[in-house]
This record gives sequence, structure tokens and C-alpha cells, in this order.
Amino acid sequence: MISKEVIDRIIEYTSPESVKLSEPLSRYTTFKIGGPAKCLVDIGSERELTEVSGFLKKEKIPYFILGNGSNTLFSDEGFNGVVLHIGKNFSDVVVEGNIIRAKAGAILVSVAGAAYKNSLTGLEFASGIPGTVGGGIVMNAGAYDGEMKFVTKAVKALSPSGETVVLEGDELKLGYRSSVFRHSDYVVLEVIFELKPGKQEEIKAKMDDFNKRRREKQPLDMPSAGSTFKRPEGNFAGKLIMEAGLSGFTVGGAGVSEKHCGFVVNAGGATSKDVVTLIEEVQKRVFEVSGIRLEPEIEIVR
Ligand SMILES: Cc1cc2nc3c(=O)[nH]c(=O)nc-3n(C[C@H](O)[C@H](O)[C@H](O)COP(=O)(O)OP(=O)(O)OC[C@H]3O[C@@H](n4cnc5c(N)ncnc54)[C@H](O)[C@@H]3O)c2cc1C
Repeated sequence: MISKEVIDRIIEYTSPESVKLSEPLSRYTTFKIGGPAKCLVDIGSERELTEVSGFLKKEKIPYFILGNGSNTLFSDEGFNGVVLHIGKNFSDVVVEGNIIRAKAGAILVSVAGAAYKNSLTGLEFASGIPGTVGGGIVMNAGAYDGEMKFVTKAVKALSPSGETVVLEGDELKLGYRSSVFRHSDYVVLEVIFELKPGKQEEIKAKMDDFNKRRREKQPLDMPSAGSTFKRPEGNFAGKLIMEAGLSGFTVGGAGVSEKHCGFVVNAGGATSKDVVTLIEEVQKRVFEVSGIRLEPEIEIVR
């Protein structure tokens, strides 16, 4: 239970307009699923993030850092704590030569756009990824020929003990959909990208090609969280799911996309429970047919 005193303190650190009570999380996820957060705070600055997260930690109040919610499935009961939403109020992007500094709430698509405008190459892969820079580095987001690891020079973050730190290179532990930040107490504040000078028309052509391929292959017209499962070594989740005869398989309002079996979509009114049950059923049936256990890529917040 979050008391009035706690809410008042959060408002002191932020502003009354930034703090919402019983806020439906379905509005903050690309799945369009999720019950209410007891409290949701729209973070506006590094100071707010530092102070509010420090306070919640001290008071032992559960909190969840949310970017654009494009890789997250909340439960139908919502979140019994405080969701710190790092979105457009914390999304400055500054370009200095071949360096781009982007605050955690900047959307990868816009950072890729800023790179293109400044004739910088390396971020084309991100031009169709609907996450924030913060969520992108947590997940080491990647597509086609690129991933965050290849273009990240350094990351400014709040350490688990609440200090501002800058991590680089191996310290970031960037691997397949993983990083030092995933399932940790770090909060990403800013990502510093290092890109290479390129030719604007070539950058544009590459972005257009990637986005065309996405439109052709992915169910972008339906709510989802992108690829639901991690790619198993030497194989593809979508292929295994199709071979298990699960294309178009549904549980309630959730379904395996017929366009791309690696995507679980909200085909209309899906609950979180529908999605979780469908994921478990897919895991079971794929294992029976192939002996391979698929692991979810998406963050399931129970
Ligand atoms: C249509 C579609 C296509 C997609 N295509 C791709 C793709 O090609 N490649 C790919 O890799 N992914 C893809 N995704 C998945 C998703 O966009 C990425 O994983 C993205 O990086 C998630 O960013 P987010 O801001 O939405 O993260 P969220 O879903 O908000 O959060 C994800 C995780 O990161 C944590 N987090 C978020 N921000 C911070 C922060 N500032 N500090 C600390 N922790 C934080 C959250 O707590 C959570 O654990 C796709 C999704 C959709 C819907």
C-alpha cells in the first residue's frame, strides 16, 4: 500500500502533474495490456530520477523502471508499487561531431533519425525499433546487421548504491539481449553513441530497406512486444513455432501471428493471462516437437 505521505514526497521531488494514481499500464505498453499501477511517475530529469528512486529504495517500496513498454508484459492486476516512466519528458538528443548523447527516454527511431540528418552511419538497424534508448541498452537491442553494442561508447547510469557512474566497454557486459543493466538495480540515464561519418543517401537507403523488410515480414498492424522468444542457438523461434503447427494458434485474445510466428500479438482484448498461457503452451509444444526449449525475450512482470 502506498500512503498519502509517500505520494506527497514523490510530488515534492517531481510535480503534481507527473504523478498519476491507479494509472492503466495498458496505455504504456505496445501490447496494450496491463492493469493499473498504484502510482506512475513521468520522470522529467536526472535529478527527479535520482531523488525518487533513492527515496523509494530507502522506503523499500517496489518500483519498476519503464521505457516505452515495447518489451514488457504487465499482469492484469497491474503493478503494486511505483512505475517510474522514462519517456518523452526525459529524451534530449544532442549531436556533437560523430558523438550522439541521448537521454534514456529518447526513442531509438528518433536517435536513428538524428544520426541520418547528421550523415552519421551505424544506427540504421535501430530505425524500426520502437523502444527507448534506456530499454535498448538494457536489452542490447539489435536487428539486421547492428546492435547497441557496436555503437555504444559509454552509458551514464545510477548505480545500485545511487551514485552516478559512467560504464564503458566490457563493463557494459553487452550480449544477446542482455547487459549488466538487465535485472539489476542500475537505472540508465544516458547513452553516448559513437558513429561514423557516412553518406546520407546510403544511410536513408539502408533504413528504407530495413523498414520495408519489417513491414513485409512483421505484424506491425497489431499490438505486440516484437519477437516474443529469444533466438535459440542455430535456429529461429518463428520457424520452430511454425513447424510445431502453431501458426495462428490462439488463447483468448492472444495469438501466434500468422505473418511471423515469432510474434505473439494481441488480436483484440487479450489479457496478460492469455499471453502467458499462450507462451507456456508454445514452449511445451515446441519442446515436444523439436526438443528445444524456447525462452521468452519479453519482460514478464508478475
Ligand atoms: C513492433 C516491434 C518490433 C521490435 N523489434 C525489435 C528488434 O528488431 N530488435 C530488438 O532488439 N527489439 C525489438 N523490439 C523489442 C523492444 O522494442 C526492444 O527490446 C526495446 O529495446 C525495449 O525498449 P523499451 O524502452 O520499450 O523498454 P521497456 O519495455 O520499457 O523495458 C524493457 C526492460 O528494460 C528496463 N528499462 C527500460 N528503461 C530503463 C532504464 N532507463 N534504466 C534501467 N532499466 C530500464 C525495464 O525495466 C525492462 O526490464 C520490438 C518491439 C516491437 C513492439
